[in-house]
Amino acid sequence: MILQLKKNTDLKYVQAIADTYDAIIIKKDDTYVLVTPSRIKSVDEKYQLHIERTTVCESDIQLASRSYIPTTREVKIGEAIIGGKSRNCMVIIGPCGVESEEQLEQTASLINECGLKTLRAGAFKPRTSPYTFRGMALDGLKLLAKMRDKYGFSIITEVRDSTQVDDVIAYADVIQIGAKAMYDHGILDKCGKTNKPILLKRGFGATLQEFVQASEFILSGGNENVLLCERGIRTFETKSRFTLDLCGVAYLKEYTNLPIILDPSHAMGYAYGVPDLARACMAMDVEGLLIEVHPDPSVAKSDASQQLNHDQFRQLFKTLKPIASAINRTIV
Ligand code: PEP
Ligand code: MN
Repeated sequence: MILQLKKNTDLKYVQAIADTYDAIIIKKDDTYVLVTPSRIKSVDEKYQLHIERTTVCESDIQLASRSYIPTTREVKIGEAIIGGKSRNCMVIIGPCGVESEEQLEQTASLINECGLKTLRAGAFKPRTSPYTFRGMALDGLKLLAKMRDKYGFSIITEVRDSTQVDDVIAYADVIQIGAKAMYDHGILDKCGKTNKPILLKRGFGATLQEFVQASEFILSGGNENVLLCERGIRTFETKSRFTLDLCGVAYLKEYTNLPIILDPSHAMGYAYGVPDLARACMAMDVEGLLIEVHPDPSVAKSDASQQLNHDQFRQLFKTLKPIASAINRTIV
């Protein structure tokens, strides 16, 4: 249950209600929002005079639920707005990992040519093998920040563990929590303490309930700027790297208030399938797409098989525009 308290409620009552119902306290300007476990469905009569609004939630999907906020939340990324009243769809591109300044310069020309605003690349790469490229770390963050300063892009980059969150906050505009880190409470809690937008990827073995509950750790920490990213889940199928759960996306749109970003690249795992999937993602009427591109995917140090080369992206981008306009979305 979510209890929005009346303005200027005395802290001793805030604490008393929170203690009685095991609630998390969120301070929002001059009001407090208390979130109890969802099994609690009512509060004692004596506390009613302090309560402005009560939202009873079916499950621990609470702050992210449409019962709490019926419209999609607005999130500002650089100068661009997604969600809220906007009908923007942010097309986010970049290589899997930062590899060199030259590589980022080439990506920057593609972004500028397409009139886009956001560059995404990893400096800390979570990998499934210790013998593969794990990213340029701080040097990679600095190169990304250089691109932001030079071209005005918003930068999205990921954290692999909680010790990197402060550096990523310092250098990037959006913090990506990767699929393998979705359950990392050290990261989730730290991301709850900043106001920077967080791109939370779905763990590939996580149910939708678990995925959205992971976002609740960030929201209940006080950060309202969370984006949910579906990037494919593991199924019995082995011909594609993962299975993009578009039915899950329909669920998230219906029941949650968070902007949604779809990542066809990691789901498919092979460049040949990415353009068709990206078009399907655009047709899902969501707030953003994340597509991996590389000037020469054959030499990419990570995720080589799924990255589009720049010509392939140009071809795809042309076909995304009419889909966006058919559903009244503006690509940003
Ligand atoms: C990535 O975005 O490059 C990445 C590692 O993705 P995921 O966490 O979805 O596997
Ligand atoms: Mn990748």
